Amino acid sequence: MTTVAAYAAPSAKAPLERTTIERRAVREFDVLIDIEFAGICHSDIHQAREGWGEAIFPMVPGHEIAGVVSEVGPGVTRFAVGDRVGVGCLVDSCRECDNCKAGLEQYCTGGSVGTYNAIGKDGEPTYGGYAQKIVVDENYVVRIPDGLALDVAAPLLCAGITTYSPLKHWNAGPGKKVAILGMGGLGHMGVKIANALGAEVTVLSQSLRKKDDGLKLGAAHYYATSDENTFKELAGTFDLILSTVSAPLNLDAYLSLLKTDGAFVNVGAPEEPVALNLFSVIGGRKTLAGSGIGGIQETQEMLDFCAEHGLGAEIELIAAQEINDAYERVLASDVRYRFVIDTSTI
Ligand code: NAP
Ligand code: ZN
Ligand code: ZN
Repeated sequence: MTTVAAYAAPSAKAPLERTTIERRAVREFDVLIDIEFAGICHSDIHQAREGWGEAIFPMVPGHEIAGVVSEVGPGVTRFAVGDRVGVGCLVDSCRECDNCKAGLEQYCTGGSVGTYNAIGKDGEPTYGGYAQKIVVDENYVVRIPDGLALDVAAPLLCAGITTYSPLKHWNAGPGKKVAILGMGGLGHMGVKIANALGAEVTVLSQSLRKKDDGLKLGAAHYYATSDENTFKELAGTFDLILSTVSAPLNLDAYLSLLKTDGAFVNVGAPEEPVALNLFSVIGGRKTLAGSGIGGIQETQEMLDFCAEHGLGAEIELIAAQEINDAYERVLASDVRYRFVIDTSTI
């Protein structure tokens, strides 16, 4: 076991604070990673405050992890000391179900293990990336290509793959009109990736405050959803809408923006249920779907794609002491566009 400095929420009602945790000794197929950067995902806040239900405390959030391998177990074949690597939302899965065999570990039916707020197969709680080191089985570790700096690569491990996977699955590409709903951590990566895939990208944001940024990141159009005219003007426009919104939203209004056979794909994970008038999908044979992160192999594919297209996240690098303030700014939709913790400050 190694004692490691970390930032943890002691309970759902308390701010995060510095603490120490124990990391397991490196086993046969494990790699020890010296974490350099950890992104702050809105899911960290939902979980640290028990917005999604009962959670495990103390909680060390963080599933956007970038660092360097500092030790490998004797059975490790894919990584060596010094490799630049990343870890996302999963650190284990059953490896036997149809989904695991198909590279869809995120939909494992035999029990996947989250990077934090979960219990590992060894019965111990998992702790995430707001820490100086982590030990992970090599099968759940990906390689960060040389072309990507580690700080801007960290958010790709969740925000990147969560947008890349559905954009690929629903064929975002040339000739397709794609709307990205919400321009925060996930949304801004959605804009970059959909644009790199060749789609015509529109941002639907609450206001026009971030319009200049959206156009710079690759959007061709930018609309405010607070303006009723937006819904009149854009009725029947999109092949695909990818919603990254963290709060409940008016699904019927957004479904009206799809073309016939268009798809509204939700990745946002609000804490409350949302209502739906089913006539919104009957007319126009529309699809309402969801998507969760991405598999391990697809995460590698996404990192390679981002390196090839020069796509990192737009980040605000912070010290660990600023985590609680950063959480408040994320909740106020005041992030441009991902907070990343310099873990050397823990
Ligand atoms: P984020 O940085 O806070 O971005 C969310 C964006 O949603 C905000 O920037 C804002 O965009 C918009 N928004 C927030 N509150 C809103 C409201 N009341 N009405 C309308 N729009 C609102 O969060 P994130 O890290 O990108 O995560 C977004 C959501 O995805 C979270 O719920 C998170 O838990 C979830 N998530 C899901 C997966 C998955 O696998 N499915 C993976 C990661 C995260 P504008 O300012 O542009 O309006
Ligand atoms: Zn996340
Ligand atoms: Zn499985």
